[in-house]
Amino acid sequence: MRPAASSSSGTVGVGVDNLSITYRLGRKEILALDRISVEVRQGELLVLLGPSGCGKSTLLNAVAGLLKPDEGQITIAGREVFGSKGLVNVPPNGRNLGMIFQAYSLWPHMTVRDNVAFPLKRRGFAQKDVKPTANAALDLVRCGQLADQYPGQLSGGQQQRVALARAIVAEPAVLLFDEPLSNLDANLRRQLRDEIAGLHNRLQFSGIYVTHDQAEALSLGTSVAVMTTARIEQIGTPQEVHNSPVSEYVAWFLGANVFDATVDARGAVETPFGVLSSEETTGKGPARVAIYPERLRIEPADDGTATITLVQYKGTAVEYSVQAGNASVNVVTITSEQPLAIGDRVNVSALPRDVLVFSDPGIVSATAAASEPGQAKRNSEGP
Ligand code: ADP
Ligand code: MG
Repeated sequence: MRPAASSSSGTVGVGVDNLSITYRLGRKEILALDRISVEVRQGELLVLLGPSGCGKSTLLNAVAGLLKPDEGQITIAGREVFGSKGLVNVPPNGRNLGMIFQAYSLWPHMTVRDNVAFPLKRRGFAQKDVKPTANAALDLVRCGQLADQYPGQLSGGQQQRVALARAIVAEPAVLLFDEPLSNLDANLRRQLRDEIAGLHNRLQFSGIYVTHDQAEALSLGTSVAVMTTARIEQIGTPQEVHNSPVSEYVAWFLGANVFDATVDARGAVETPFGVLSSEETTGKGPARVAIYPERLRIEPADDGTATITLVQYKGTAVEYSVQAGNASVNVVTITSEQPLAIGDRVNVSALPRDVLVFSDPGIVSATAAASEPGQAKRNSEGP
């Protein structure tokens, strides 16, 4: 199996332009995608991250051709597969893609090898190449020894590896993943996540990966698109969306504490936890502050501004819930020292660069570039 980068023309793996989908249930209408535009560059693994119901699967299924959009355009490897006002609508098996779903979707009556060989046969691979190509794909996901077994004889993790082999075996232009690890237990999820990252690194396929799990998104994506209902709120590298969230929502979804504050005339940020300074400059007035739990510091102090309300030992770290007034934050500290106890008074602080300040509608004023509705903000043009 070769890296795909050199084998495909153009630099755009998947192009989605102004795509809208409304579900109609009797008289009820659900706007599932609101004029979404997004691009997956050749070799890029774009993660769609957002809460349940925000439209991730709808977008993925539209790209796959399983769902017909109301309007917009979709291209795969430079070819229009949906568009021209709905006149072009290439069926799923003509779109040159591989899919992996949450449920292990192998055919139970076929051996593992026959499952993996299926896309090759459908595409008319020469008979003599089918078996070695299927075996090579199984070897890539470390399942070569399972070739003659049936799916029912495999564990969930093994079935998902085989599904992965089946998706990549014919070297499709694009791989689509819809929460493929959600049914696995934590250890397996971690293992398979690492393997998908490794495979992407080696094969450089273009892909879209849907998840609601922020850790999965940040560790797998070359780009991450954070979604709210029917829209993409921000796209960037994992570092960009994490370190420079464009809104309170993005910061919150990536795990930041968010609470009320007031910015005074000199730019100091008054919070229930005391006065903090920030590198962000918003106008004075009410604001929202976002700070990641790992970037907050607490110091025991008899006259501290806050109180420890919960202590959770996590092995390598200790997570505290810390309250001041009616605001509460999580603080993660990596320490081998004796943890603080419930009821202890502490002072809370953070480095100015870690204090993210959002003016009231929830947009960082420093980066609030005006954007078209439905257009996500990109921190930069990326690679
Ligand atoms: P996600 O994958 O992010 O959890 P979905 O794309 O499945 O979200 O759903 C987006 C929205 O569309 C939700 O409000 C969901 O209830 C609705 N929806 C999804 N599929 C259908 C359907 N077949 N019929 C009606 N509404 C649907
Ligand atoms: Mg879904």
